[in-house]
Amino acid sequence: MSTVILVTGGSGLVGQAIKHVIENEPVGSRFGKKENETWIFASSSEGDLRDPAQTRKLFDKYKPTHVIHLAALVGGLFRNMKYKLTFFRENMVINDNVLHAAYETKAQKVISCLSTCVFPDKVEYPLDENKIHLGLPHDSNFGYAHSKRMVDIQNHAYKEEFGCNFTSAIPTNVFGPYDNYDLEDAHVIPALIHKCYLAKKNNTPFVVAGSGKPLRQFIYSRDLAKLFIWQLREYDDVEPVILSVGEDEEVSIKEVADAIVEAMDFKGNYTFDTSRADGQFRKPASNKKLLSLIGGFEFTPFKPALAESVKWFLDNYDTART
Ligand code: NDP
Repeated sequence: MSTVILVTGGSGLVGQAIKHVIENEPVGSRFGKKENETWIFASSSEGDLRDPAQTRKLFDKYKPTHVIHLAALVGGLFRNMKYKLTFFRENMVINDNVLHAAYETKAQKVISCLSTCVFPDKVEYPLDENKIHLGLPHDSNFGYAHSKRMVDIQNHAYKEEFGCNFTSAIPTNVFGPYDNYDLEDAHVIPALIHKCYLAKKNNTPFVVAGSGKPLRQFIYSRDLAKLFIWQLREYDDVEPVILSVGEDEEVSIKEVADAIVEAMDFKGNYTFDTSRADGQFRKPASNKKLLSLIGGFEFTPFKPALAESVKWFLDNYDTART
């Protein structure tokens, strides 16, 4: 039977990573393309998913049997704090349009992408799949976080009312080729890569905001891509799965900056601006559920993954989102 997989947000960091894996892993292998599969990577130019008619048109055009739903209004802390309503409304509308079009066109399965910001601000660590709705998310991005939480509610409701096979994935911090390097809006790794690049180019100091001590779990986009492909093919339950490296693989911001300095071959002055806020020290998430289900997975070690990302940035500076 032929399978058509529509990836919404197919032009972004995670979408392009899935495309890379599907095109580069051996055909027929666990993460490679199967003979009967057609993969569609849709960008917003193919249809604005905030609009129900355009969403339905996209589904009518490709008739997907499966959907990996990545498209979202995403942004850094500053934009999230300033535009809480916009983040809430746009993502609510995008998610509602995609899930309902999938239901109406009888797609067999949808995996939607959440984020660890769905978890409560005050919660016992490590985060796990059972703690999503135990308290309010952090105030800084409550619009975005609530819209993502609602996907889990919708998935359960679609299953209970219509028997749909809709589920979700919760990645930790993602990095890799095709990231957003816009200094106003980037996540920590692409922002530091861009800053270090400019420091090298302009012969100025490379200044990292904060002490460098906070710890985070970073997942390489191409590893995350494999986990999405696994979830698409091998996981059929409505409950979300955290897609992450283990708690013992947290990396400090200083380790991130050190790795960037090395990959960028930056020889200039490199300091930490401790007058800047650090944010939360750590917010570890458990990948126990993932590992118990997937039966072993080799994550790319952080340093080579970061070096590949830096190389991609340098090779694609003219076209990257800067
Ligand atoms: P990107 O910003 O790299 O990509 C976003 C994608 O969404 C783009 O393909 C964009 O299309 C598409 N998109 C945005 N708005 C619309 C719209 N109105 N209609 C159609 N398409 C739209 O994001 P990521 O790849 O980083 O994120 C993918 C998913 O992963 C998101 O759901 C995000 O919340 C989640 N996530 C990301 C993390 C991270 O660290 N990056 C961490 C945890 C979760 P185009 O570019 O063509 O406009």
